[in-house]
Amino acid sequence: MTATTTTARVFQLTGSCNNYPWGKKGRDSLAAQLCAKTDKSFQIKDDDFYSEMWFGDYPDFPAKKFDTGELLKDILEKNKETLLGKKVIQNLDGQLPYLPKILSIAKALPLQIHPNKELATKLHKKDPENFTDPNHKPEIAVALSKFEVFAGWKPLSHIVPLFQLSFLRQFVPAGTTDTWTDATLREITRSLLKAEEGTVQFIAQSLLKTPKEDLGPKNDYIPDLIPRLQDQYGPKDPGTLVALLCMNFMVLQPGDAIYIPADGIHAYLSGDIVECMARSNNVLNAGFCPPADRNSYDLFAETLTFEGHTAADMLLPSNKSEKSKEGHTVVYKPPMSEFDMLKADLGAGESDEIAPSDGPGVLIVTSGQGTMLAGGKTFDLKEGSIFFVAPDTTVVWKTDKGMQIHMAVV
Ligand SMILES: [Zn+2]
Repeated sequence: MTATTTTARVFQLTGSCNNYPWGKKGRDSLAAQLCAKTDKSFQIKDDDFYSEMWFGDYPDFPAKKFDTGELLKDILEKNKETLLGKKVIQNLDGQLPYLPKILSIAKALPLQIHPNKELATKLHKKDPENFTDPNHKPEIAVALSKFEVFAGWKPLSHIVPLFQLSFLRQFVPAGTTDTWTDATLREITRSLLKAEEGTVQFIAQSLLKTPKEDLGPKNDYIPDLIPRLQDQYGPKDPGTLVALLCMNFMVLQPGDAIYIPADGIHAYLSGDIVECMARSNNVLNAGFCPPADRNSYDLFAETLTFEGHTAADMLLPSNKSEKSKEGHTVVYKPPMSEFDMLKADLGAGESDEIAPSDGPGVLIVTSGQGTMLAGGKTFDLKEGSIFFVAPDTTVVWKTDKGMQIHMAVV
């Protein structure tokens, strides 16, 4: 055996940016701006779209060690005991259990769900090229700016009046009484997705002509959003109908967050966010994308969960973190074992000390600058800095001018 050198418990990373066409352009993209702050080889081009910066150990768009360029994945594999810890090795597959990202969204992402573990395992076996892992992918999104999103289902009481409009009745399954169930909504979603392109166009036109007061409670925003969505994906995309008729439309402010469970329907519409998810890249798409990128409508409809049935159900509250000594840090705790998300907001001259976790942490400075004392060393933090922090490591953040940090922890 070769002698092992001591592994640093805390080290800086660089992320990788991707270029999906829904991303913001050039310097307007926060993902690109943050990426450029620490990756000197990354040049922002004015005409390119920059959608996401990833900074986990997933093989796509992987994080690398800042000073050596080594893949985070390789470093973790060589030092599992120290860098991942017992809990992750025993219960969470012995890999970084989460995947953090920054998203800069200019237009709607595909209308999507992330399949549960059982279905993901099946799909991965059958089609490993398109389903690149057997894991589920519940996710959270924390707003860094105004963030518009379609997420989960409206209350049935807001949907039913819409489908009493003459041009929408055709989608209601035969024999449906006034008492709708989630099974009714599943069938409606399926038929909306399968509607002929001409029908999609006709329904949208009819909605535009309908007086707002006839749309039922809390649906008056629908005609306002139709031109915008049609402008983005054309008048024939069925995503527009499913999103507007059946899903909650939410406008979040910085610090607000949502949780999307496995099989939960969502389509992010605009804004900059920190996103974090279980370590997976599996997705089923059904709209807001070219027809060739859509998965089977039947598989999509069959897989849907109806867990979230109001906008409030989708919100993920933040609370003061018990790990925070000075009380400047809140925690978002999604109902899943893979991660929590900490958010520190330090004013000028403030500091916070974060108690150790029993798994790995990955942090990004989302604004401001300061220092971090961790593992016996002091590190400079500036906007865009990304750091890996090993289990059982206390960190102290300090700033003269103010600083905001988001940190995923196990
Ligand atoms: Zn998603």
